Amino acid sequence: MTLQIIILDEKPGQPSKKGVESRSYLVKCNICGKEFWKPKSAVLWGMGKFCSKKCQSEYQKSLPKELHHHWKGGRVKMNGYWYIRLDNNKYRREHIVVMETKLGRRLLRDEVVHHIDGDIENNNISNLQLTNKSSHGKIHYKEFKIDKLGRLTKKSRRYQNGQNRLRNN
Ligand SMILES: [Zn+2]
Ligand SMILES: [Zn+2]
Repeated sequence: MTLQIIILDEKPGQPSKKGVESRSYLVKCNICGKEFWKPKSAVLWGMGKFCSKKCQSEYQKSLPKELHHHWKGGRVKMNGYWYIRLDNNKYRREHIVVMETKLGRRLLRDEVVHHIDGDIENNNISNLQLTNKSSHGKIHYKEFKIDKLGRLTKKSRRYQNGQNRLRNN
């Protein structure tokens, strides 16, 4: 189930302290269909998908178990990667969980999730590509530069370090 903020109508809000009119949107709850007004600022922050905590938790229950914590924001960044907290209080790399959720199964031993745009913080499913260890190596090999003496350049070594991390998924 993909969630979006359903905007039905809009109206100019009351003038704020700064004298700027803040617009409001009439939005519709994704779960129960109730219509309610939300300030534009809240909608820009992604709020307005649910009318209440109750409907939000209804949605949460429909998510794959591993994404519950994702939803709650049990999310930390370590070594440049996003990790999400699971029920057993262990952390897993978010891009792996996102891919596994799409696949509906755990990754196989040889499978690797590659970040297409090279940004390891961008765990949007459209930026993730399921590949395997050897193909993944080839994808990144293009990024290596070798100098006249056949050594990896500094920049490339950085890539290689990144690769070592990626190799462990
Ligand atoms: Zn609702
Ligand atoms: Zn990669």
